Amino acid sequence: MNLDASLNADLHCHSVVSDGTLTPEALAARAQAGGVQLWSLTDHDEIGGQQRALDAARALGLPYLTGTEISVTFAHRVVHIVGLGFDHTDTALADGLRATRGGREARAREMAASLSEVGIHGAFEGALKYVGNPDLISRTHFARFLVDAGHCQDVPEVFRRFLTEGKPGFVPHKWASLKDAVGWITRAGGMAVIAHPGRYGFTPTEEYALITEFIGHGGRGIEVVTGSHTADEFVTYADTAQEFNLFASRGSDFHSPEESRIDLGALPPLAARLTPVWAALADRIHR
Ligand code: AMP
Ligand code: MN
Ligand code: MN
Ligand code: MN
Repeated sequence: MNLDASLNADLHCHSVVSDGTLTPEALAARAQAGGVQLWSLTDHDEIGGQQRALDAARALGLPYLTGTEISVTFAHRVVHIVGLGFDHTDTALADGLRATRGGREARAREMAASLSEVGIHGAFEGALKYVGNPDLISRTHFARFLVDAGHCQDVPEVFRRFLTEGKPGFVPHKWASLKDAVGWITRAGGMAVIAHPGRYGFTPTEEYALITEFIGHGGRGIEVVTGSHTADEFVTYADTAQEFNLFASRGSDFHSPEESRIDLGALPPLAARLTPVWAALADRIHR
């Protein structure tokens, strides 16, 4: 297997185990149909789908890296840290993720109470209908409810009008610390990767703080080519990866055939000047 930057690796997507709409098995098949040569399922704050994803990938002959995407509070903002290539039976990682998931239901009830103040009733029960994993009720499930109940045309409109800071339905939440998230992944034998850095709206100073603290805790990778970046950001974060000597990652962040702009395997490749995360994780790939 050629592990250079041209590999069609898709190392970021979500299943019904978090806020995606497809099963791990359906995603594995879709990844292969989309030409993916190395795949990872990265459900939010959850590794309960890893064995299923691994088994499905193996049955298809699709090389697989274990994955997750951890929600972190950093500088009063939510940052996502992807973990790749860890031992998915590691109990400290599982315990940490369980603690991070805790409080989602109470948060969801507060979100529903906030929405009812602007006349949108029954949002908790409404969102719950879209939830595959009762531990992982997320804003995405509220967004699907708001669209299907006719309050918004589509999911992007939901996030413009609701569920984000200063808008109805937003409830601030304390997620994992950067140190804990990077530590859980690293001690389980995996690599921590900063997810979609272009999405946080950080100033250059804040971004520098994030990257240097992340590296200080043992983080080694950064997403460069992701469904959440513009073509300009592919270049910006390729430069960032080189500047900080970080391994570069690539992933669609696919959630659903109806909602996701970028399908599995459909992104452009990493620039040849980058060292990909999969080169450093060669011995962690399940085949
Ligand atoms: P939560 O973890 O409950 O805060 O939900 C976060 C999820 O909401 C993310 O993983 C995305 O799937 C989704 N999301 C957040 N912002 C947006 C946005 N602007 N457009 C579409 N989906 C979004
Ligand atoms: Mn999501
Ligand atoms: Mn994310
Ligand atoms: Mn994601």
